[in-house]
Amino acid sequence: MSPVAANSSASFGTHSSSPPSKENGYEAVPLPLPHLPPPLLRPVQKISKKPRAIEILTRLKAMYPEAPCSLDYESPVQLMVATMLAAQCTDARVNQVTPALFARFPDAVALAGADISELEELVRSTGFYRNKAKNILAACHKIVTEFGGQVPQTMDELTSLPGVARKTANVVLAHAFDIHEGVTVDTHVKRISGLLGLTTHTEPVKIEQDLMKLLPQADWENWSIRLVYHGRAVCRARLPMCDRCDLLDICPGAIKLRKAAAKAAKAKAAKAEVTKAKVTKAKVTKAKITKAKVTQTKSSKRAKRKVLD
Ligand code: SF4
Repeated sequence: MSPVAANSSASFGTHSSSPPSKENGYEAVPLPLPHLPPPLLRPVQKISKKPRAIEILTRLKAMYPEAPCSLDYESPVQLMVATMLAAQCTDARVNQVTPALFARFPDAVALAGADISELEELVRSTGFYRNKAKNILAACHKIVTEFGGQVPQTMDELTSLPGVARKTANVVLAHAFDIHEGVTVDTHVKRISGLLGLTTHTEPVKIEQDLMKLLPQADWENWSIRLVYHGRAVCRARLPMCDRCDLLDICPGAIKLRKAAAKAAKAKAAKAEVTKAKVTKAKVTKAKITKAKVTQTKSSKRAKRKVLD
């Protein structure tokens, strides 16, 4: 059984107490697609944007059969808080912090009444902890006073909460309520959707709109999760492993990357040639100078001898 299948247990719409993560032995290793030849033997296919998006989605589903949320939570408010803490922080770090946080403050009422210094201390290691603690407290206060203690289930209401932007709202709606209002756009989704040629935008809101037009609504959130897995396992920011990627033949970004790599290699080789030529020239010049000095020494010795004679 693949590492994915072997370790995945959570699914959408359920509250995962122990979701698959690197820490509990789960690795998002893509499954090979046996019905396709290996990436490098596959000819590049020119498919227009929408069918390409669907083909990519189909392949991502086959490569990463499970797409659970990787944050630990047991209620919608806990998921909201965990997602707020995940800003500029890894899910693994958040999962280390939330057990103590939720043991002390398990629901919106408890969080709304928390002492800010204690809350700050509990979330300190996730970074930007003062701001995060302030927003968690204010958001939970609003949930208690305006929404009867329950996390609201619409995009407008959720984004009216302090510190809850569209990205957090998308995650909460999809995973806690199975409501698909949009596509969560994080750094992986932004980068890889661009490489896959599905958007030319750089602003998350515009990327989200592009993706919403191309993908079926039910797949909006699992698209994001699978791209995150793919970004961690194969399409890494520093060095995408295109030669191992089962999207290679339908990824315009791979072609650009290969061209850029070839151009960089050519420039490096040209630079090395120039350096080599300079070194050779310097050696020749040095040899000439040495020879001239030797000649000069010899002739001055000869001149001295003549004077003495
Ligand atoms: S082919 Fe390369 S650039 Fe395209 S998704 Fe795969 S790893 Fe990323």
